[in-house]
Amino acid sequence: VSDMALYAAKAAGRHTLRFFDPAMDVRARHKLGLLSDLGLALQRGEFVLHYQPQMELASGALLGFEALVRWQHPVRGLVSPLEFISLAEESGLIVPLGAWVMRQACLDAMHWPAHLRVAVNLSAVQFGNADVLHTLQDALQHSGLACERLELEITESTLMRDSQAALQVLHALRSQGVRVALDDFGTGYSSLSYLRSFPLDKLKIDRSFISLMDNPAGDSSAVAIVQAIIQLAQALHLETTAEGVETLAQRDTLRRIGCLQAQGYLIAKPMDALQTRSFIAGWLVAPPSGLVA
Ligand code: C2E
Ligand code: MG
Ligand code: MG
Ligand code: MG
Repeated sequence: VSDMALYAAKAAGRHTLRFFDPAMDVRARHKLGLLSDLGLALQRGEFVLHYQPQMELASGALLGFEALVRWQHPVRGLVSPLEFISLAEESGLIVPLGAWVMRQACLDAMHWPAHLRVAVNLSAVQFGNADVLHTLQDALQHSGLACERLELEITESTLMRDSQAALQVLHALRSQGVRVALDDFGTGYSSLSYLRSFPLDKLKIDRSFISLMDNPAGDSSAVAIVQAIIQLAQALHLETTAEGVETLAQRDTLRRIGCLQAQGYLIAKPMDALQTRSFIAGWLVAPPSGLVA
């Protein structure tokens, strides 16, 4: 690393003063390595979907699952989407990868009882791609999944980037009968007036607010913020899902302030398709008593 650092500093020329951070070099090389493997990963079938349950807080009913992609790398093991989604977006691979995710999630959901939904994350790049409607139609047709069982998760920045165009895409997607959730709500800059005009079904309250809620060292206004988001959602006739619910205290507070649904480690961590099927079977026989109480 040090030889390379020296070389890079020299190559930068005499007139530039460059401080070389070896850790940055390691990260850059790591990124480059992943990027070159990423191109082949799709055709090699190295991506897998894990599923995380969503439940209704009042009744304890299981509502469905969010599909979360992982990369089963032959050398590095299971790679988190946080490491490769942005690379896939930069390289354009997110379009075929996203299409695969949608198809696979619909196929997997066909093995579940018909009242359970599946939610799929859509990247801004996919959302802005001309093929997105066709990808959706293809996934529904190929799997035979009823459209109302599929929910698409998009983020605020996806909508706000070009809100006129986004509105049209949203209407086109919704015309297929699927649902739309606004993911990581509260972390972006949603214009409240636009929020009103977008055809949405739910707000997913970002985990960062939930994790502050029962943290004594945290921000005491966290509960007030979550409450305000819930009231906003109610005014707009949107459902609410709290993300990243980890404790019973958070669950209790969320119930008290009227949040409808929860997702998080308290209920279950994301699991593979096979585990998901036994999770569903177990839940239907006897819902976890601690959770539903
Ligand atoms: P997201 O859509 O907001 O997904 C929720 C993330 O929070 C997941 O991380 C999930 O494992 C994590 N999580 C859930 N409950 C808890 C909890 O109680 N505590 C904590 N600490 N974390 C919790 P994951 O699977 O690493 O995914 C990260 C992000 O990667 C996702 O955030 C989403 O933005 C993106 N992503 C995942 N799969 C896909 C995909 O198929 N397509 C696209 N475009 N993005 C994806
Ligand atoms: Mg999501
Ligand atoms: Mg989220
Ligand atoms: Mg999030």
